Amino acid sequence: MSDNRVWSYSAVLMGSPILLKLFTHDETLASRVFALIKRYEDLFTVNRADSQLMDINRAAGRHPVVVSRPVFELIKCAKAASMVHNSAFNLAIGPLVKLWRIGFKGDCVPPAEEIAARLRITRPQDVILDEAAGSVFLAQVGMEIDLGAIAKGFIADRVRDYLHQQGIHNGLINLGGNVQTLGTPQGNWSIGVKKPFAEADALVGSIEVVNKSVVTSGTYERYFEQDGKRWHHILDPRNGYPLDNELDSVTIISSDSLDGDIWTTLIFGLGVEKGCALLKQRDDIEAIFVTKNRDIILSSQRQFRFTPLDDSYRLTD
Ligand code: ADP
Ligand code: MG
Ligand code: MG
Repeated sequence: MSDNRVWSYSAVLMGSPILLKLFTHDETLASRVFALIKRYEDLFTVNRADSQLMDINRAAGRHPVVVSRPVFELIKCAKAASMVHNSAFNLAIGPLVKLWRIGFKGDCVPPAEEIAARLRITRPQDVILDEAAGSVFLAQVGMEIDLGAIAKGFIADRVRDYLHQQGIHNGLINLGGNVQTLGTPQGNWSIGVKKPFAEADALVGSIEVVNKSVVTSGTYERYFEQDGKRWHHILDPRNGYPLDNELDSVTIISSDSLDGDIWTTLIFGLGVEKGCALLKQRDDIEAIFVTKNRDIILSSQRQFRFTPLDDSYRLTD
């Protein structure tokens, strides 16, 4: 039986509140979705010692580690995104993330020489993949892969695929920053774009999408303040410091949430002007930039409709 009523299911996984919306009341299905997310979390986390990813990291500089297919595939994809010329995305950023400890107790700006030393062990080309063996080898001692910027996107896409397999074609999964939508219930799904550095539920606008992923990455998500400056959790692999430009947040609208995750980081590294120019070459990926100066800039508006909700922001496109 189905009607137009939306049923919401929630859990806390990957350190984030997870929200699933379905047009059916089915606790069993919801718990299967949460179990699926948990299985992937167990493979990808770097916050616990017993994940496959940590097995790779522990063997850095010593030997390759054979991993399961999803881990291999996600690392392969993350490496490709990291090898793009001048990419701000880097899967081998782990040693710098650990050094900065942003959002954790005692976080402060590390000494410049420490940053320089860690930069030397964050080269994506030192992540060696062996297709035939299904193994991953980190060539330098101390290297660490961190999939924190894309694991959620990958998992959101797997939840979408699972729901499709179960015959569900209307729904939404929100993994805390990564939203993946299925179908067009009563028109479109409406998704809020957060107002940076404001109360949790304050929005600068909302967007309506059909069968799309919406991913937001923002400097306001995790940061600390020191020397009158905010130091946030998206690091520039080219210099080892938090990416510093005019942006407070980037939202990417795409089919796959994995693309959304990669592109939020790439665009953060490019800034508004270069980011827009690059997106002109892609008609499947669109961005909403929210700047420190309170501008909202849309790269294009083919796959979504944007409604501004905060008068203190200027909308330009
Ligand atoms: P959010 O935490 O808001 O979802 P992201 O999706 O951008 O933000 O992920 C940020 C996380 O990705 C960081 O906490 C860190 O683990 C990792 N990370 C930081 N900088 C980079 C980078 N340049 N490339 C890849 N991963 C990064
Ligand atoms: Mg994210
Ligand atoms: Mg991301």
